Amino acid sequence: MARIGFIGLGNMGAPMARNLLKAGHEVAGFDVMAAALDAVPGARRAASAAEAAADADVVLTMLPASAHVRDAWLGTGGLMAAARPDALLMDCSTIDVGTAREVAAAAGERDFLDAPVSGGVMGAEAGTLTFMVGGSEAGFARARPVLEAMGRSVVHCGAAGAGQAAKLCNNMMLAVTMAVTCEAFVLAEKLGLSHQALFDVASKSSAQSWALTTYCPVPGPVPASPANRGYRPGFSAALMVKDLGLAQQSAKEAGAVTPFGAHALDLYRRFVEKEGGGGTDFSGIIAMIREGKA
Ligand code: NAD
Repeated sequence: MARIGFIGLGNMGAPMARNLLKAGHEVAGFDVMAAALDAVPGARRAASAAEAAADADVVLTMLPASAHVRDAWLGTGGLMAAARPDALLMDCSTIDVGTAREVAAAAGERDFLDAPVSGGVMGAEAGTLTFMVGGSEAGFARARPVLEAMGRSVVHCGAAGAGQAAKLCNNMMLAVTMAVTCEAFVLAEKLGLSHQALFDVASKSSAQSWALTTYCPVPGPVPASPANRGYRPGFSAALMVKDLGLAQQSAKEAGAVTPFGAHALDLYRRFVEKEGGGGTDFSGIIAMIREGKA
């Protein structure tokens, strides 16, 4: 069993750390909000990120955004210097590909992985997250047993930054698919076609998708989807804006042209900033599309 320094015990980090403890690992935790540690009984409370990392076999961060990750590893957090030279280092936050590669490069010969997740808070609690991992084969092999204590699916995507690339590409596809699925249901309404009839056809034909069959944006056809509970998340529109922004940033840096992703970002940003949709599930954008504001 490993000694794990866990930095960032928020909505995702706290349940992930609890699952590590449940699997028999030792956890030393640090969060700038000291009260966050209350949600992880059984963890040793470290006074700083560096202290949490000092004697750890594995150092793991789960922080809000790129700036926090850069600061924790390379700046005032001092993690890169504090961690043992043979420790496995990883960041599970969702950040841009460039920052993930920059932090990994600063780790030199040491094993540093980007390992963002999908599955949300429910997946973190249930230990059913999907991990998308970038970094060396050897680092991935070391990480696997630790990640499997927190997730059901662990995929090695390639070299440094590949985990973040997979996450951003996946969520860009999801956002565009959801937006056009909403658009199709609104068109069906105008054409006098019932939600159920469209669902029955599209879910069994060439337009089939996760956005339709698991997360159907209208109430009825998929009883467990957020549409049936007033669009309570789920996956909030605010987090989708974050991920679409990272996808556009990474696309610009890589010279990729992604107009559908750009339009989805514009749409979701207006939903959040002008329609007050930030705390709504991302499938709730159907209301804005229905009002002709897409
Ligand atoms: P959160 O804001 O709930 O938690 C982040 C925690 O980091 C907070 O407790 C904060 O106090 C702490 N923190 C900030 N700066 C710190 C520092 N320098 N040192 C130590 N602690 C610090 O966010 P979250 O929902 O847990 O998300 C974490 C990451 O996971 C984000 O990158 C997010 O995009 C990603 N993510 C979230 C979800 C989700 O559904 N919430 C799903 C997939 C991925």
